[in-house]
Amino acid sequence: MKLNRNYDNVKDSYLFVEIARRVAAYSADHPDAKLIRMGIGDVTRPLAPAVVEAGLKAMAEMGRAETFRGYSPDSQGYDFLRERISAYYARFGVKIAPREIHVSDGAKSDCGNIVDMFADDNTVLIPDPVYPVYVDSNIMSGRKIIYCDATEENDFAPLPDEKVKCDIIYLCSPNNPTGSAFTKEQLAAWVDYARRQGAVIIYDAAYEAFITDPDVPRSIFAVDGARECAVELCSFSKTAGFTGVRCGYTVVPDELCGGKFAKMWARRQSTKFNGTSYIQQRMAEAAYSEEGIKQNMENIAAYRKNAALISSALDEIGIYHTGGKNSPYIWLKCGTDSWTFFDRLLNDANVVGTPGSGFGRNGEGFFRLTAFNTYENTVAALERIKKIL
Ligand code: PLP
Repeated sequence: MKLNRNYDNVKDSYLFVEIARRVAAYSADHPDAKLIRMGIGDVTRPLAPAVVEAGLKAMAEMGRAETFRGYSPDSQGYDFLRERISAYYARFGVKIAPREIHVSDGAKSDCGNIVDMFADDNTVLIPDPVYPVYVDSNIMSGRKIIYCDATEENDFAPLPDEKVKCDIIYLCSPNNPTGSAFTKEQLAAWVDYARRQGAVIIYDAAYEAFITDPDVPRSIFAVDGARECAVELCSFSKTAGFTGVRCGYTVVPDELCGGKFAKMWARRQSTKFNGTSYIQQRMAEAAYSEEGIKQNMENIAAYRKNAALISSALDEIGIYHTGGKNSPYIWLKCGTDSWTFFDRLLNDANVVGTPGSGFGRNGEGFFRLTAFNTYENTVAALERIKKIL
């Protein structure tokens, strides 16, 4: 047996594993410290009542012989959920047919799995800083990766460079970690570039529900020509607090590779994936009901309030930052190397954030705070941060 040697090229420890290690070591030495976590992008608010009710109802159905369900008839997802997701897109004027929607257990799985669609000798273009999964999943398959720079100069929203040749492009908007978001015009530049290159865009829209700016599209399919060159990954995790429930979906338009991509993706999923549970799918359906959307938007409004609070505290102490407007992430310039800043915040303020260098070369000197904690904890953390800075 030979191991996949491409794994030798993946960094030893995933970013959040290293953070957890340092936090555990600090907590062991300081058992009474009251840490406030603004590091990992995990939600804290409970599920919307409409979602809980749907989950309980689905669970009760599973407990009765007449309504019990086993494997779902199609690993692509139940019709009721794909129709509901299609209607969700229609709310912001994007036409996606239910057959183009593939339900999964989350966007991270889809991200890791979609690389199966591509030949190993494709070249991948990724903006840096980056959600690390795009990089690691391609390193694991041995693909060549080139980076484009997302920096303070381009407001962390880089545009394509015609001289750069690639086959697969990753875009994440609103962005994790920088909180930047592409306008429709900027996305159109990427779509045109991808079509000229014969490349595919893997578009990660996990944070679309946080968008407030009318110039920023909720989906890449709001842009003309995107149906010919893009796949969209989305998730209920941040929109509806499903980080512990698990449900996401991929949109593969009919036009992509003349329909071949959708066929291959469905084939891959039906071979390697047995579908998301009936209960999760009923909960996801409820998350995109009128009532569910209203309740989820109340949760998102609470996170937005935290983001605004973080932003104004940083303004007060004169720290350059971006994000927070269309995103739950605030990306701040820390003026030192980012792991040193991480340790300083942990040791002196008992606040856990995420060092920017964990997201790539351009993340060095930056730091990510999330707005996902409670209002009270956010206020307390900012008081502590203000004191030490
Ligand atoms: N995509 C991005 C950009 C994310 O930040 C995350 C989670 O933090 C995911 C995908 C993963 O989403 P899920 O919980 O659906 O796996």
